[in-house]
Amino acid sequence: AGALLLYCRPGFERECAQEITSAASIMGAEGFVKAKPESGYAVFTAHQEQMGRDLGKHIDFAALVFARQAIRNAELIGDLATGDRVAPILAAALRQGRRFRELVLEMPDTNDGKALSSLTKPLAPHLGKALAKAGVVVDDPEAEDRLHVFFIGSTACYVGVAACDNSSPWPQGIPRLRMPRGAPSRSTLKLAEAIHVFLGETEAKKAFVPGMTAIDLGASPGGWSWQLASRGLTVIAVDNGPIDEAVLATGQVKHRRTDGFRYRPEEPVDWMVCDMVEQPSRVATLAAQWIAEGWCRASIFNLKLPMKRRWEEVERAQSIVAEALGTQPHELRMKQLYHDREEVTAHLAVARRSR
Ligand code: SAM
Repeated sequence: AGALLLYCRPGFERECAQEITSAASIMGAEGFVKAKPESGYAVFTAHQEQMGRDLGKHIDFAALVFARQAIRNAELIGDLATGDRVAPILAAALRQGRRFRELVLEMPDTNDGKALSSLTKPLAPHLGKALAKAGVVVDDPEAEDRLHVFFIGSTACYVGVAACDNSSPWPQGIPRLRMPRGAPSRSTLKLAEAIHVFLGETEAKKAFVPGMTAIDLGASPGGWSWQLASRGLTVIAVDNGPIDEAVLATGQVKHRRTDGFRYRPEEPVDWMVCDMVEQPSRVATLAAQWIAEGWCRASIFNLKLPMKRRWEEVERAQSIVAEALGTQPHELRMKQLYHDREEVTAHLAVARRSR
């Protein structure tokens, strides 16, 4: 018990492990991580149980880059008998508490994980009944925690909890977004997800108001420009490559064939977004410059991570922004989104005075 279970994109377990080890150490907790390559999750166990519990409570989920979900007090339940998986899971759930906002049955985002849904689907109602009979409430809107049961095989699962205000609201930490009609490329979903994750719909309505302006660096074929235009913004799409005819036909998107690193706006804009395939440090430097110079108020940019030292590269990009902006109040968040492959997405904005 007391372990911190993190879900991640398969193939990024090492980065997830490096990140949590570093975050834990900053908070004064030392421990060890189990992170099997391609498993889709990592487990951090603190050397001291109380340290582990504190870490789970106080870690800031939003600040983690590679974790899609963070489950605290994770307890591994092995040797689940095929005929009676419910009893040991129920016992573990009772050790977590009596009232929960929700019950979620999950599995890693891998092919093996997908196969486990044939197990979890029929199990869910049985578990629900057993919990109710034992007096455990799993739909209390006042409860702070969600109860998570994470199957890593047909005979083993983790049982733990996540605070609803400090975790991903989506099963498996994966937002289900539908491909919007008329978008020229699937990468439009990347920007849609970034807006969802970094701002949320309420904030997004204030941050993207019709009539606002945006620059899209590395815009071809136009999926991100389309996303901004669909939110009512007027966009300058900067790329030597072509922009989809239907995107230009909206009348809200103008194409400039030039280098995204040299382009400067004629007047300040609300947003600069950037999806150029370039070194992360160059893109981070550019985004920080746009904010520092006041060329835009906020930015969403993507950092491609094809290199081996991906966690180090993310840390480097973070410190580039911190150094470039110095004491200028700003907010920076990075996340490997579901629609990100070998990459992470960042949100950088001038900090609002109300915070
Ligand atoms: N966000 C786009 C969309 O949703 O359709 C996809 C962008 S694609 C991943 C990367 C683009 O960056 C390419 O079209 C490439 O031409 C452009 N690019 C790379 N380096 C650039 C530079 N220095 N200036 C402008 N565009 C650049």
